Amino acid sequence: MTIEALSTLVSHDPATGEVVGSVPLTDPGEIPTVVARARAAQVAWGALTPEERAARLAPAGERLVAEADRIGRLATREMGKPLREATGEVRGIGKGLADEAREIARDLADDVLEDDRVSTRVHHDPLGVCAAIAPWNFPVGMPHGLVLPALVAGNAVVLKPSEETPLTGQAYAEILQEVLPPDVLQVVHGADAQGKALVAADVDLIAFTGSRETGKKILAAAADGLKRVVLELGGKDPMIVLGDADVDEAATFAARNSFRNAGQVCVSTERIYVHESVAEGFERELARRSQELVLGNGVDEATQIGPMVNERQRTHVLEQVKTALASGARLVAGGTDHPERFIRPTVLADVTHDMAIMRDETFGPVACLQRFSDEEEAVRLANDTPFGLGAVVFGEVEHAHRVARRLQAGMVGVNKSCGGASGSPWVGARQSGYGFQGSREGHRQF
Ligand code: NAD
Repeated sequence: MTIEALSTLVSHDPATGEVVGSVPLTDPGEIPTVVARARAAQVAWGALTPEERAARLAPAGERLVAEADRIGRLATREMGKPLREATGEVRGIGKGLADEAREIARDLADDVLEDDRVSTRVHHDPLGVCAAIAPWNFPVGMPHGLVLPALVAGNAVVLKPSEETPLTGQAYAEILQEVLPPDVLQVVHGADAQGKALVAADVDLIAFTGSRETGKKILAAAADGLKRVVLELGGKDPMIVLGDADVDEAATFAARNSFRNAGQVCVSTERIYVHESVAEGFERELARRSQELVLGNGVDEATQIGPMVNERQRTHVLEQVKTALASGARLVAGGTDHPERFIRPTVLADVTHDMAIMRDETFGPVACLQRFSDEEEAVRLANDTPFGLGAVVFGEVEHAHRVARRLQAGMVGVNKSCGGASGSPWVGARQSGYGFQGSREGHRQF
């Protein structure tokens, strides 16, 4: 993105540099007025029941499905992911929206508690105005995960999509706006300055998904008004491959989960600890699979790995790789000569925790391998991070479950990704977040 003049936010295609379009940039000074309009609109919206609000929102799902090709293409052009994944993201959200809204309403039902003295009814009232601040990596999924529960719970919402994907965020919001009363959902556009102004405005809850660094700033800024926060932050997810793992399955999973969306996924597998007895085979299979992945512009049918979202992110990733190689890491796949705007899937072995690439979030298509001989060591290394979003263990089922229970992460997958069955929370432990998404606990935060 670039901010042109003082009033326009221009969105660029990361695969080509072409201009995709632009939106009016919100003047940070206008944001208190936007929030005041939201507060006024919330009164009538909050007076409906959760079921009535869910029913009102339900038709937006069909509209999203109908517009999935258009919005998906916009997402690909703004942030680079393969078209199939982008349209799939929009279509999937559209298809599930009505059921999801009903489920949120169900989760907000009153609780009735009784003892031999008294009967108590616990209501789950809306908070008022919710600021929803989203990242760009799932440019429909991330805003949606914040906006829908806030709306069904009876809040008015002011959404700030990422400055990298303003057109996609706007397109998503417009579909919801078609079925909502005026000002119940408003959009502001911009980057840090607009985010800060929104956090500082008269909002009751800040629902944020993004980096740990921004999360810290939001938490500090929210302290002044004791505003509530929900923070879904970054990760440095480990994968443990035990000696009794199915090496083919583990390598297939790692190739998908380290490189999907060019590694720009919060629960991307960034650190892999592999038992020495299977390390050679795993390394070979992961390298082979990574070399088969097709790099290209996301709008091309064959593309599996798109460009990096912007030059800053690309430089950050390449710098981590370069420093690791200079400190003794071994290049297994990927090379160092990447096409402009892209990074080829890269596999590094013999990395150590002295290297920044094993400590700081990479958010790029890089898988880092370290061998272990002793399970205690694998658990210690996997937990040696301030993050705690997802984790994955591959191995014989009972064995892998035992190891999984020892990992300090919000979500742990055994022989699969860390995502749970519908209704389970999306949650980070430690510095990966404050609060939940999805699930009864998550919906009640709003
Ligand atoms: P980011 O933190 O740079 O930006 C996120 C949003 O915050 C953007 O809309 C940005 O404009 C806004 N912002 C920036 N500074 C702000 C401030 N001071 N006050 C208020 N808002 C501000 O993150 P990003 O680069 O857009 O996204 C990538 C990050 O998001 C990664 O760390 C990734 O792990 C994380 N993420 C986490 C999850 C999860 O579920 N835990 C999901 C997706 C992405």
